[in-house]
Amino acid sequence: MIDSHSHLFEEEFNIDIEDCIKRCKENNVNKILLVGFSYDTNRKALEYSKKYDIFYPTAGIHPDEADDNYLEKIKDLKDFISKNKVYAIGECGIDYHYTKENALIQKIIFKEQIELSIKYNLPLIIHMRDATADTFNILKEYKGKIKGVMHCYSGSLEMAYEFIKLGLHISLGGPVTFKNAKEPKEVAKNIPLDKLLVETDCPFLAPTPFRGKRNESSYVTLVAKEIADLRKISYQELEEATEKNTKELFNL
Ligand SMILES: [Zn+2]
Repeated sequence: MIDSHSHLFEEEFNIDIEDCIKRCKENNVNKILLVGFSYDTNRKALEYSKKYDIFYPTAGIHPDEADDNYLEKIKDLKDFISKNKVYAIGECGIDYHYTKENALIQKIIFKEQIELSIKYNLPLIIHMRDATADTFNILKEYKGKIKGVMHCYSGSLEMAYEFIKLGLHISLGGPVTFKNAKEPKEVAKNIPLDKLLVETDCPFLAPTPFRGKRNESSYVTLVAKEIADLRKISYQELEEATEKNTKELFNL
């Protein structure tokens, strides 16, 4: 089993990172994409991946990072990618949940990262929150040139098919286990199995029965179990398929 999206370098894990990794291995979670999203976290992801062989680092600029220093941030990311081995660009994307005031800068940063992913032939890890139309319209401009994943996807089934048509995969996380999560469950049931990935996005969005508590990568098994049940297939079949998809997409 692979957790395709985690932030285990966050300080919530400072006290027990070794135990977290141990719990992953006990649950047959053997590979983890460690996702950077800023100057500091890109470096942490790389540093942790050198220390623990379970991790595969990525680097990106999160839409929350869209401020007046964006040109410097883009320059730093380009420099960082040129010097270090990463497995994906991102997370990056569009997020209007808290503000739309920086929309223009968000779009510029996102497009720069799409261009980088094409240049280095790397997949994108895409964050989209309350911004479906703009995210889709930007990605559409690059149809045929991009690959990547809509991470912790929470949109409609209809839009999931549209993102798949652009060449992207769909990753589901903890919310698919929530009782009232109608759309993620619809997506989990219906999208082609060869387009599906699983993730935790830890420390956020812990699956049931840990909802509201700290999330960790070993809980990706709970996400997978829920999706297997929804699709009426075995856990093993789901595990094999998502593992294959993730390995192929990120070239692990
Ligand atoms: Zn994340």
